[in-house]
This record gives sequence, C-alpha cells and structure tokens, in this order.
Amino acid sequence: MPPVASLAPGAHSPVSDLDRARKVLRDVFGYRAFRPGQEDVITAVLERRDTLAVMPTGGGKSICYQVPAILQPEGLTLVVSPLLALMKDQVDALRAAGVAAAAVNSSMSPDEQARALRDAAEGKIQLLYVAPERFGNGQFIAALRGLRVVLLAVDEAHCISQWGHDFRPSYRELGEVRQRIGNPPIVALTATADPRVREDILHRLKLHDPVVHVAGFDRPNLRFDVIHVRSQKEKQERIAEQLRGLGEESAIIYCGTRKRVEELTDFLQRNRIKCARYHAGMEDADRRRIQDAFARDSLRIIVATNAFGMGIDKPDVRMVIHHDMPDSLESYYQEAGRGGRDGAPAACTLYFAPRDRGLREFFIEMAHPEAHRVVAIYRALASLGGRCHVRELMATDDEPGFNAAIQVLVDSQLATRRGYMVEPLRLDGETAIDTAGLDAHREHSFAKLDAMQRYAESRTCLRARILDYFGDETHQPACGNCGPCVAGPALAENVASEAEGRIFQDLRAVRKRLADDAGVPPFVIFSDATLREMARLTPRNRSEMLNVMGVGQTKFERYGAAFLAVTKPAAPQESATPAPSRALRPAGGEAPYRAPNGKALTPSLRETLALFREGGGVEEIARQRSLSRQTIATHLAELIDCDEIGDVSRLVNGHVLAAVRKAAGEGRIGQLAPLKEKLGDGVSYEELHFARAFLNRAARG
Ligand code: ADP
Ligand code: ZN
Repeated sequence: MPPVASLAPGAHSPVSDLDRARKVLRDVFGYRAFRPGQEDVITAVLERRDTLAVMPTGGGKSICYQVPAILQPEGLTLVVSPLLALMKDQVDALRAAGVAAAAVNSSMSPDEQARALRDAAEGKIQLLYVAPERFGNGQFIAALRGLRVVLLAVDEAHCISQWGHDFRPSYRELGEVRQRIGNPPIVALTATADPRVREDILHRLKLHDPVVHVAGFDRPNLRFDVIHVRSQKEKQERIAEQLRGLGEESAIIYCGTRKRVEELTDFLQRNRIKCARYHAGMEDADRRRIQDAFARDSLRIIVATNAFGMGIDKPDVRMVIHHDMPDSLESYYQEAGRGGRDGAPAACTLYFAPRDRGLREFFIEMAHPEAHRVVAIYRALASLGGRCHVRELMATDDEPGFNAAIQVLVDSQLATRRGYMVEPLRLDGETAIDTAGLDAHREHSFAKLDAMQRYAESRTCLRARILDYFGDETHQPACGNCGPCVAGPALAENVASEAEGRIFQDLRAVRKRLADDAGVPPFVIFSDATLREMARLTPRNRSEMLNVMGVGQTKFERYGAAFLAVTKPAAPQESATPAPSRALRPAGGEAPYRAPNGKALTPSLRETLALFREGGGVEEIARQRSLSRQTIATHLAELIDCDEIGDVSRLVNGHVLAAVRKAAGEGRIGQLAPLKEKLGDGVSYEELHFARAFLNRAARG
C-alpha cells in the first residue's frame, strides 16, 4: 500500500479535501504548493463534478487527476492517454513515487495486459492508464465492468475534436464509455485554446454541468513585442540588429517556410552572425546534430521552421523571434513559450510586414480548398468518366489547394489516386461531398488567423490579448511588460488615405439608397465605422466581406452584394502568390499599411466602442458580444486611456473619481490593489480601472 492510504476519506482528522490534497502533493510528489489552477480543478474533481481543465503544456495537468486518484484509494482512476511513450513515463514516475499505477496498451503482451487488469480488479491499482483504442475491445470493456472506477480522466482531450490539431477517431468512442463503466465523473484535460474545440470536448464527452477551468497561461517573465516593418528586407536587418544584443545567450528564430529559413540563415551568416538552419527537409542526422549543438550551447542561434522545438526543453532560451506570423495564436504562444523556461526574462518578438497575412492565407488555401471547387473538380472527373491524369483536371482548376481537393474526393470515397492518375469510384456521388464541413473548416482556419492578426496589429497589451484568447481571465488590463504597455497607446487621429475616402463616399451613397428603399435610417444598415473598414479592406468576396467588423451573416445576405459592387472593383489587382494581405494592404502604392495617425483600434475595440457610443453599458456590451464583463471593462479602460471615450460619467461617477484622486495622491496611478484597500467595498475594481484610465489621461493633459 502506498504511504498515503491513511489520507483516504474516513481517516479521523477533520481536515478538508484540499488539505489532504496538499499533503499528497508534498508527501508523494514533493512539491510545496499547487500551481495556479491545480487547486480549483482538484477541488472540483473531489466534489465529483465533471471538469474541463485547460492548462498550458507543462502546466501540470497530470497532478489534477493523480492527486484525486491517490485520495480515493477505494476505487480506480482510469486515465485515457493517446501516447504510449508518455503513458509509460507517467506510470514509471508514479511507481517511483510509491503509487500503484499500471498501463494497458497494445505494446504489452496479452499476459501483461491481463495481469494489469487483474491487479486492477483486485484493488491493487489506483491509476490505470489506457490507450483510447482499448475501448473498442469488448473483452476490455467487460473486464472494466467488474472494477470500481471512481474517476475517468481524459488526457489530451482535444483529440476528440475534428477541429483540433490532433483529431483521433478512437477518442470518439469515449462519449459512450462512461455509462459502461458505472458513470464515474470525468475530468478532461487539454492545452488547447480554441473555443470550438472546447465546446466539442464538452459536447462529445457529454460532460454534465461541467466546471471549466482555464489557468496558468501567463508567463510573466516573457516580454512580448510586435515590430512592424515594411518589407522582408527590413525584417532581416532588424532581426540581425536584435540578435547583436543577444550576447552569449541562445535564441530561436522561427520562419514560415523552408525557403525563408534558408534566406534568413544566409543573410545572418553574411552579416557574421553565427547560426544554423533547421527544417524538415534536412537529413535526420543533420537535424539531430544541430539540436544537440543547441542543447550543449555550442550553437547559440537556430533559424528554423516550426519543425524545431518538439521535445526540446532548453531552459535558457532568451529570445524567440518570429520572422513570420504563425497561423494561430496557439501556435505562436506554443513557440514563443519555448523562451524563458527557467523563469528568467526572455524576449518574444514577432516581426510583421504588410504582406505577411498572405503567406498564411496561401497555406489555408492549400489545405482547405473552397467546397465549390471540390465539387467542380468532381464534376470534371465524372464527366471524363474514367481514369485520367491530374493534368486533365487541372485544366479546370489550377488554384492552390488542388491536391487537397483531390484528397477530399479520395476521403469521401468518390475517387482513388495513384501518383498522377485519378480514377472516379462513382459518377453520381456529388452529395457525398461534405460541402458544409469543408467550408466550416476553412472558415475556422481563417478565424484563427484573424485572431493572430489582431494580435500582430494590437495597440494594447499583448499579454492581455493572449490571455483573453486562452480564456484565462485573471489578468490585469495592462501587464507593463510588452511593447504596447511600455509605449502607451498612440493618440493621433485616424486619417484615411484619399483613395479610401473616395471609396467611403461611394459606400455611403450605396447605403443611402438602400436605406431610402427600406425606409430606415442609414446606420441601421451599416455604421460609418463599418463603411470605413470596408473602404480600407476593399473585400472582394463573401468571406472577405464577413471579415469586416459589423458585417454579420444576415446583413451580408441582405446588403452584401450592393457593397461588394463598390469594393470589389476598387480592390488592387493581386500579384504573384502568396497573395498580399487584404486586411493590411496599403490603400494605394507605397502608402504605409497603417494610417499615418498610428492609431488603428483593433476591430474588437472598435466594436466595443461602437456599442458604447450607442449607449450600451458594460453588462449590455458584454452580453451582445458574448465576452466577459471583465474583457469589456478592459476595453473601455483602454478606450478611455486613448481618449476615444472622453466622457466617463456613464461608467464612473464624479464622487468616485474625486475619492480615487484623493486616495491615490498626486501623480500617475499605478497598482489598484492599494486603492481598493483604502476605498473599501464602496468602489469596485471595475470603477477603479475606469477612474485610473481617466485620471491618468487627464494628468497627461
Ligand atoms: P502537462 O501534462 O500539463 O504538460 P505535467 O503534468 O507533465 O504537465 O507537469 C509538468 C511538470 O511540472 C512536471 O514535471 C510536474 O511534475 C511538474 N509539476 C506539476 N505540478 C507541480 C507543482 N504544483 N509544483 C511543482 N512542479 C509541478
Ligand atoms: Zn502588456
């Protein structure tokens, strides 16, 4: 029996669950305190609530089910884990700590598997790790029936969602498993931030009234910056400059393609900066050599694609530089998060040029062709009626994503492909193409890219943006340790270029006509802010139009075509692929992509501002935008700070302002906690945020 058996419920001392959990953490694992979030998750699990725990990789998810498992020695905790190697490590580590754990998976002999199950049946085991495929095995399920499962832990729970980056069909069975093993509570664990994936986890695992806990995403020692440049050339120069400040420390520079890895490595080497390249196109041996050299510090700088980093746990990386914006904030944060593992400061710098979105859009086009193209290719194939060369089909479609489109036909069992030859399996199977699903995946990828781009363009706290994205809401509106926080928001006015001004006037005319026809005021159709953004982005099609702030599905259906008729011809001609960024394309010629004013409020801030101007309060705006009250309060404080909201009387009254000014004394107001202490319950944190933004702005003059 493990030494902690005495901690089981029924032990005499009247200690709380959490105290017992802390004792296990100390005695079994040797850790002094729980990390952020672990305590809450463990409390929920011990209350037998269904729980979804979202924590970053390395955040300590395992503890969240291991401690409860140890605290419930009368029953078995079943842990579903997708990776055999990790499973083995976990079991070994637990055994080494004196915890009775075992695994059942396909790498074990039938004898070994039977023994583990027998031990479990005899109550000799507290944690049993299983691969999800096991649940497809009737014998295994039958064996489980005899066990008393007190907790089902689903690790890497995002594998259940096809929206995730690691979908595993075997996870799909898990939704059904629970009733077959006596309805234990479920704790699902993941590091994914994607709201759609999280929804999917709740839904597919059929979690009942779940506690969703998001924690531990903040990495205070990481300093975030976005550096805006005009060209790839400028990027290279600025990166070289930054690396000269690296000294004898280590850095990783991520590039979006192998070609860019090659180009940047050459450039840096020409500039006498010692570095090595790393990408998946290189020989295994070379890659291993470079990894080792980096780990041993004989090589300080690595220029790599995202192939670099898995399984690398170098604690003292001081800079993680992104030459190209990744496809999502998840990818960005995972890669940037390889800096400063030792807790000492590290710089995470994203370089961003106007065309950078284009590269990512190109990749999305490659991976997720539009559904109508897949259908068109299928029709072409069907009309040819038999085996044909891909080139024949390409005559109808030579866009990026052609191969992915063929693959969709193969996956839909409508065709087979061998090398360059494609053969239809059916000629009447058009309805088997999941067009809705294809388009949804595509849109999903674009939505993630949009969030990444909003980060790249953010004028407000970058850390707050990341944490909001991950749903980690326990942060300050401004961290003081990122570019925008240090620079302060820009204050100049928004001046659109001449070309944009003309398009804007045309759009207004269209709006006027539509409004008159419908007998409604113009703003009911679209606000000026929406028309301005339309003028700036010049969308060319439905999906681009839907990217414009304020254009929803319904409004697009009603009015979209009329506005597209203005914006589409106004859009500059595309040149070579990758396509230039629509969202960031300068309005004409060499104009800087950001208006000279410097102030481009993010779409999200603008939306909050628009709703505020329409008279919305914090609660109402939060509801309308499906965002937390805290996020909206943060937005409003930022908007006050940059003087977009001048009159704060709707947010905080004059007495409170006076009281805050008095309590804070002279000068700039910093931390709110001391003020809150002085002013007590009469003043909320929210009011304090607004008051601080207002008073600090006023003090700046
Ligand atoms: P995840 O599964 O979230 O990626 P792990 O559960 O493997 O992370 O934990 C990462 C590391 O952190 C492990 O070495 C683990 O032992 C350690 N760890 C977890 N919780 C704590 C804690 N409360 N205090 C100190 N170290 C911890
Ligand atoms: Zn910040």
